[in-house]
Amino acid sequence: MTMKTLSALLLMSAGLAACASASLDAGPARAVTQTGDAWFDGAQATLAQRKGVTHNTSKAKNVILFVADGMDPTTVAAARIYDGQSRGEEGEENLLSFERFPHLAMSKTYTTDTQVPDSAGTMTAMTTGYKTRSGMISVKKESPRGDCEASLAVHAPTFIEIAEQAGLATGVISTARLTHATPAATYAHVPDRDWESDAALPEGAYEAGCRDIASQLIDFPYGDGVDFAMGGGRGNFLPAEANDPEDEDRKGWRKDGRNLTAEWVAKSDKHAFVWNKAQFDAIDPAADPRVLGLFEGSHLEYEADRESDKGGEPSLEEMTRKAIDVLSRNDEGFVLMVEAGRVDHAHHGGNAARALMDAQEYAQAVAAAYDMTDPQDTLIIVTADHGHTLTFAGYPAKGNNILGLVKYAGEMMMAEDGKPYPTLGYANGPGSVYHEGVDHDERPIGDEATVSGVDYQQPSLVPTGSETHGGQDVTIYASGPDAYLFSGVVEQNYIFHVMMDALRLSPQAEK
Ligand SMILES: [Zn+2]
Repeated sequence: MTMKTLSALLLMSAGLAACASASLDAGPARAVTQTGDAWFDGAQATLAQRKGVTHNTSKAKNVILFVADGMDPTTVAAARIYDGQSRGEEGEENLLSFERFPHLAMSKTYTTDTQVPDSAGTMTAMTTGYKTRSGMISVKKESPRGDCEASLAVHAPTFIEIAEQAGLATGVISTARLTHATPAATYAHVPDRDWESDAALPEGAYEAGCRDIASQLIDFPYGDGVDFAMGGGRGNFLPAEANDPEDEDRKGWRKDGRNLTAEWVAKSDKHAFVWNKAQFDAIDPAADPRVLGLFEGSHLEYEADRESDKGGEPSLEEMTRKAIDVLSRNDEGFVLMVEAGRVDHAHHGGNAARALMDAQEYAQAVAAAYDMTDPQDTLIIVTADHGHTLTFAGYPAKGNNILGLVKYAGEMMMAEDGKPYPTLGYANGPGSVYHEGVDHDERPIGDEATVSGVDYQQPSLVPTGSETHGGQDVTIYASGPDAYLFSGVVEQNYIFHVMMDALRLSPQAEK
């Protein structure tokens, strides 16, 4: 294509043809020259690539739902720069693995009773197709939070339960406790997310028929049970009489005497329990195992701290690879949920560095899943449950350290108090100068090394002990069968309906 026709096409497509011909009457014609610019040429390449995107309408064999807890669009933008900079690039041009997916939509995350939601209500929307109240795990909105008896009548079936019943293999992975809200909403039904072990059930709830979250994973009544489950939270699976295998000073948290890890192993010859990296590495997918992996008493380590873990922990990418290796042996296909649970926890701590590092690891887990599966038959959905209050602001130069102080043209940018400030901050949280005991007139700010360090708590305005969630939309990225159905602004519970349609398990779908 010549430059002349190219420019004519661009003007036409921008609806500027009329202006262009008008300006030709005003003087001698000039040729527009557009050459040799990386972004200009990159946009042309993107245009050609987008025109080639087709709709995959075939049935999905497998569905993988990735959820990074609390990974809002601001976190994604900062993480992509962090990821590029960790390889020595300036970072802005970088894309995280899932940002290359062809289809995306914005997800409205509110719950039926809160404008800014929590992970229980939002994950229930994704796993069951019903929006519900915050704090409730796969229980419909008609039950009040914490009401055992009311909840029993309104359990919402989850995509993992439906898939098990249809003969698919199923898996659940999280870097948080396996009993924490996000993973729990794939396999358990409780009207209060805190009911992680029997010790947390309120009086009378057990007698009324309610069960704790951990026991519901082991007693899962659909198909042949969840096939692959990995994360943290051993305490909720071990009785108070048992010592934790990794930390001898620690006991289990259960009061009913049940050792759920032993019960898992007793289910069949194929059932195995692992709690450290060496055991994880020894899992042989060819033996078609059913694996429960619990690598920490509570949540797993942040990616930043994983190397120093006593017993050793697999990374989110390693767990994802192992899960796909195991589950893909089922000819009927599989469904898998993978959660990066601690992006959220780092944000709650006002600690952007660990949030970005966990988001980076999440992107690597998605890349692994994409590589190991066929995009023709595997629907991969990558999203978050809700946002946080991270801000990415000031006027830093391109390539400025995303975790550093704002600098432009080699100069430190100063706020009105004559002090520098970092690019990343939070609207509220532990980094506020308005906490009691802090001199409100003296905004504390560290030097570049402190601010860009892994432990730094970014400044915030409102003093809250824990930084809060945000109510902004989060992005849904998708690849594979039915991925094209993600476009526009959608309610979060729509995700379930697309997964079921892709698998032809929806009541409305053609079988
Ligand atoms: Zn949270």
